[in-house]
Amino acid sequence: MTSGVSFAAIDEAVEQTQPTMERLASELWRLAELSLQEVQSARLLMTCLQDAGFTISSRGTANVPTAFIAEWGTAQPGQPRLGILTEYDALPGLGNAPVPEKAPREDKVTSGHGCGHNLLGAAAMGAAIALKQLMDERQLPGMLRVYGCAAEETEGAKVYMARAGLFDDLDAVLHWHPGADAAVANHRSAAINSVRIEFFGTAAHAGAAPWHGRSALHATELCAHGINLMREHVEPTARIHYVVEAGGEAPNVVPDYARMRLFVRDIDRAHVEASTAWIKQIAEGAALATQTRAAALVYSGAYDLLPNRPLAECMQAHLERVGVPSYTEAEQAFARELQRNAGAEPEGMAQATAPLSKDEPAFGFSTDVGDVSWCAPTMGCGQPTVPLGIGMHTWAATACHGTGIGLKGAFAAARVLAATGVDLLTDDALRQAARADFERRASGKPYRSPLDPEMERPLELPEWVLEAVGD
Ligand SMILES: [Zn+2]
Repeated sequence: MTSGVSFAAIDEAVEQTQPTMERLASELWRLAELSLQEVQSARLLMTCLQDAGFTISSRGTANVPTAFIAEWGTAQPGQPRLGILTEYDALPGLGNAPVPEKAPREDKVTSGHGCGHNLLGAAAMGAAIALKQLMDERQLPGMLRVYGCAAEETEGAKVYMARAGLFDDLDAVLHWHPGADAAVANHRSAAINSVRIEFFGTAAHAGAAPWHGRSALHATELCAHGINLMREHVEPTARIHYVVEAGGEAPNVVPDYARMRLFVRDIDRAHVEASTAWIKQIAEGAALATQTRAAALVYSGAYDLLPNRPLAECMQAHLERVGVPSYTEAEQAFARELQRNAGAEPEGMAQATAPLSKDEPAFGFSTDVGDVSWCAPTMGCGQPTVPLGIGMHTWAATACHGTGIGLKGAFAAARVLAATGVDLLTDDALRQAARADFERRASGKPYRSPLDPEMERPLELPEWVLEAVGD
């Protein structure tokens, strides 16, 4: 404790928000709104923040209708500015009842919080409200900003926010994510580009007059083949995966339109950009060979996650102090049954906090927190919300995220975030060390948005959402 604010006071402030966190977690879980469609979820969180004294300084932030920013406090030059990230989107097809077996929800909702963003959102709120309370009571100078980060699962509101420079003035950003372990996220993730390639050909009767046609599907096949040959000549860290979304309607019609989507991942932006440029050339080559036209668009993307040692060490200390939740025998029995039904070892919930890794391992997943981490010093952690061996993005995770087990992880995460937040608000040296670490890693590499310039707003944004948030 460097702040003069005792752990007991921090924990008490977080505990006071537990009923709010519980209500939000359960309501978000019930809503299970998909990315870019989180109209009610965003509204729920904004209302909660307003009730707690925050001002909604931006809605539909950076052209993402279900994104928002809430603020509390003011910061003079030199005074701390702290950001907290919240997410609240669900995944399609992962709806499940809060039971330890694969079972549909009674209300037939088929989407589900298989990534636990209901808990992520709730705990971020708990931490933010507790921090605001402590700042208010103790006259701590500084400013808190809560980022409502819509669409983490698809096009990433944080990427739009980062492009708009909305994290640039922060001293630090805190976040957390549900999972099976209690660990500080001082690791790297893969940088990614999400690319759409369309081919435009000429339709014709495939039997009577194929010489009048030019197949967009053939262009897609050639493009995919070219990408697969390219694989031999990229570094082993590259991950390129694609689907063909449209490839014609009937065999007796030469397809005049075809579309593929691919994800290009690698250890950093430079690698991803080099592969993307090559893939765009392959698409052009495929179009040339088939006398069709290609249009490639980087419609989304993300940076690799930038570690930050001083922030990680600070958060690790709080993670170890808070520890993992303790569970009732009934909860452990639920966990073991869930594990058995999901094909995992029935070993229950995580029992201990993971040590802080000395190296900074690189993982193959991607997150739009990566973009934030290249704009301001950023750190997050995990707390167990599912039993060991249960992966995110599964029905089993959705089930657990609707129970008290998930909620306990959220409460613990809120305590870690709030305590780290107090340190950042009160410890000038910590903020300076975090900034110095950030500068050392990021200097000379200014943030450049992965989005192609023509991407004004997310590709998959439904019309009805624009109308629904227009009030
Ligand atoms: Zn997630």
